[in-house]
Amino acid sequence: MSRPPSGPPPRGSKASYKSPFAIELRKVTKDYETGAGPFRALRTVDLQIRMGEFVAIVGRSGSGKSTLLNMIAGIDRPTAGEVMVGHTRVDQLDEGETAVWRGRRLGIVFQFFQLLPTLTAVENVLLAMDFVGRVPPNRRMQRAMDLLTQVGMAEAADKFPAAISGGQQQRVAIARALANDPAVLLADEPTGNLDSATADAVFNLLHGRAAAGRTVAIVTHDGEIASRTNRIIHLVDGRVVDGRVDGRAVDSRSPRGFDQTGG
Ligand code: ADP
Ligand code: MG
Repeated sequence: MSRPPSGPPPRGSKASYKSPFAIELRKVTKDYETGAGPFRALRTVDLQIRMGEFVAIVGRSGSGKSTLLNMIAGIDRPTAGEVMVGHTRVDQLDEGETAVWRGRRLGIVFQFFQLLPTLTAVENVLLAMDFVGRVPPNRRMQRAMDLLTQVGMAEAADKFPAAISGGQQQRVAIARALANDPAVLLADEPTGNLDSATADAVFNLLHGRAAAGRTVAIVTHDGEIASRTNRIIHLVDGRVVDGRVDGRAVDSRSPRGFDQTGG
């Protein structure tokens, strides 16, 4: 799969905004309505992530990590502020536009995987390709099996999500997220349910995508995993307390302990 990580915005996207970054948030605030009144989950977050960067988002439970990913993915809208991913003002897309844009540009691994329960592992990966239509139909099965092999799940290709463990579902979700070789990969605790050898393999797979020019952001509680990315973005009570752009792309610097065979 060779496609430049940027390029013309998908048809129908709000393309009026140009950002030099792969991901840029400007003064993003997110309030949730609760019984006790509004709760501020993100507080004027400014954040820039470069193309080819591999960043870790860290912070305590409740600090706003998943909310931040949801803003970038267009799963939820900010109460105030702007979210740019590539040329697209994500916060201005309507629901239909968001679905199309997300399918083409983004790979997401949710905290609770969200595989479709009525589809097998390989069908979950195939569906992502069918939805976007970028991988030619006659190559989809081979690509799905290759991706499942890369996450060590080829043998479970025909199993339904309910028949495999949480860690295995997570690996299928990662294969699905990679299905369309997205320019931006977001993953909420992608190694959280994995043993250390499998976590390493998944890390290497994600690192390989960043080294190929894709932009990768993961939420992690694992300090060792975080330390092997380009940059750690710290969230405390909905604020980014340390999210400096270090100016280095992943291919200019090899994370320590990383074995270059991944992807
Ligand atoms: P993290 O992923 O860092 O654990 P979240 O982004 O999930 O944190 O949540 C940040 C804060 O926002 C938490 O206090 C959480 O309870 C609150 N929150 C998240 N989603 C909602 C929601 N839909 N309604 C109300 N409060 C929410
Ligand atoms: Mg979370």
